[in-house]
Formats: sequence, C-alpha cells, structure tokens
Amino acid sequence: MPFGQAVLTIDLGAIVANWRALRERHGGPVAAVLKADAYGLGAGRVGQALAAAGCDAFFVAQRAEGLALRAAVGSAPLIAVLDGFAPGADGLAALIPVLNRLEDCAAHAGRPAILHLDTGMARLGLSPAEQDRLAADATMRAGLRLTYVMTHLACADTPDHPLNGLQAARFDAAAARLAPGVPRSLANSSGIFLGAAFRSDLARPGAALFGLNPTPGAANPMRPVVRLRAPILQVRDLPAGGTVGYGADWTAPRASRIATVAAGYADGYLRAAAGRATATLAGRTVALVGRVSMDLLTFDVTDTAAQPGDWMELIGPDHPPDTLAAAAGTIGYEVLVRLGSRYRRDYTPA
Ligand SMILES: *Cc1c(COP(=O)(O)O)cnc(C)c1O
Repeated sequence: MPFGQAVLTIDLGAIVANWRALRERHGGPVAAVLKADAYGLGAGRVGQALAAAGCDAFFVAQRAEGLALRAAVGSAPLIAVLDGFAPGADGLAALIPVLNRLEDCAAHAGRPAILHLDTGMARLGLSPAEQDRLAADATMRAGLRLTYVMTHLACADTPDHPLNGLQAARFDAAAARLAPGVPRSLANSSGIFLGAAFRSDLARPGAALFGLNPTPGAANPMRPVVRLRAPILQVRDLPAGGTVGYGADWTAPRASRIATVAAGYADGYLRAAAGRATATLAGRTVALVGRVSMDLLTFDVTDTAAQPGDWMELIGPDHPPDTLAAAAGTIGYEVLVRLGSRYRRDYTPA
C-alpha cells in the first residue's frame, strides 16, 4: 500500500500575475490584503513575492500578523493593521494603525495612520455619528496624520446592489469633509470590477489575488493559484448494494470501485461537501461518495483505471476553491483559510 501526504501547490507567479491584472483593471495603485496568513496561503512567502514585484502596501487584520509580515518583507512597504492597535508597544512603529473609532484618533494623534469611515458596513470604522463629532472637533482633526482615508464595500460582489453607489457617494462626501486632500482607499477585489466610480488611490484586494472569482456569476478573470492533490491509498471493489463510510450514507447502485484518498475535514476539506463534490483523476471527473472523514475521502472510480498511488486532484483549475465551496454551501474564502497544516506545501516561484 502506498503511503502518502497530500500536496498543496501555491503558485506565487499566478498571485503576482493576478496582482498585476488587478492593477491594470483598477487603473491605479493596488495594495495586497494578506490577513489570516494571506487567506491561508502563507503571508511571508506571498508578501515577499508581491513586494519583489513592486507591491508597496499591505493590509493585515491583526498586529501580530503585521509584525510577522514586516519581518518577511523588510522595512520599505507600508503595512496597515485593519483592526488597529493600542499605541506604545514594542515594534509597532513599523506598522500603520487603521483608526476605527474616535478614541483611536486621539490615541494615535501625531502618528501616521489610516482613517476608516463606515459608509454602510456597520462593522468597523467611524460611524456616521462619530464622523459628525470628528467634523466638529478641529483639534482632533488637526492631530491626524493620515496616510489614507478608507471605507469598505458591503455588496461589491453584487454589482447592481444599490448600496454600492450609495457607499461610494457617502465616502466621497465624508472624505471631503473630514480628510480633504488625503489619498483614498475604496475597492476590495470585487469593487475593482465595479467601474470608474469605485477607483481610488489604493485598492485593497485579497481574494482575487488568490484566484477566487471577484465577479460571481461571470467567468473568473483571475489565474488559478491553488492546486491540492492527494494520493489514493487503496482501491476496492464493492458489490451493488454495498455501502461506504460512516453512517453507511452511500449505497453502490451497481458493482463499483471505490478509491480512498488521504485527506479529510482535518485538512479543511469541508464535511458539508459530502454528496456534492467532485475531483479530477487523470483528467476525468469523479464523484465524492460517502461522508467526509477526518483524514480520508472516498470517490467512485468505477469507470476509471484508478490505482493505489495515483493522484486525485481535489482543488485545481478543473475544481476551483469556489466550486468546492459551493458544494459545501460556503464561499471560496472559507475553503482557502481552512486549508490545514498537514499538507506538504510547494511554492511555485514567481
Ligand atoms: C478583507 C478585506 C479586504 C479584502 O477583501 P477581498 O474581498 O478579499 O478582496 C479589503 N478591505 C477590508 C477592510 C477587508 O476587511
């Protein structure tokens, strides 16, 4: 019996190509959002590849992510922390806080920072009431040293949603009132595809860099980045009426061959994908059958020449993360960030 570890291949060249394509499409500067370890793909490696290609601004969610990324990319690029951080701790001079509340504006007075205005997300950023208070407080405004003023779109992946235009208009007005002359940052991945009204001085894509489709419902304009292959450990014959896996959930409708593959929900292969997901074996599409186990998957390979040791492609150009996500009732973002630590990770150089 072959033993094997699944292999996750991350194409740094495709990430760089996607960043360049987004810059072209945006018609202006483009940062890279590398929160959650670059959506699970490795912020250090991804950051180094993008910095070498000329990306000079990065966003992370948390302070510790920012410090780790700083160590990887060197001192030149801007690294902003979306959740903000308290002033004063060691090493924080290397990072730019995003100011999400009036208290943050006071705490970081005199230091470079990014002002986040909430225009309809109701998540982070100064609320409309706080924006009014900042407008009325000339002293606090004078203390701000803003690198950018930003907002975040709630519905960018739904191009005809009325909130998109409303947020762009609110941002225009609020930025002119509170931060006149300060460079602006607006679009995420999908926002870049909404047109000229969503252009700004710094777009902030994450997902599209990693090959997820920023234009759901239309063809994916991005290059695939992630390929996940796992070895077949065993192939067995099953008579018609035989069942597979926990709960005996799947019953063979005919005499079948079943391939057992070395990956499972502990590796982020979502359990909810059972009964719907497919994979690629030697160019053919095969169906996942039975439940997803912690470490094992079972596929119906009846009409193939599958052998132990063959490689099953679980994610790749034919089975993008968005498709696996749809099978599990979630989005590609969640598939990427859950890719576990058990895979061998191969990085294709940029
Ligand atoms: C996550 C995030 C982004 C990137 O969004 P994508 O949809 O992955 O492009 C941009 N801005 C903010 C504030 C975010 O939280």
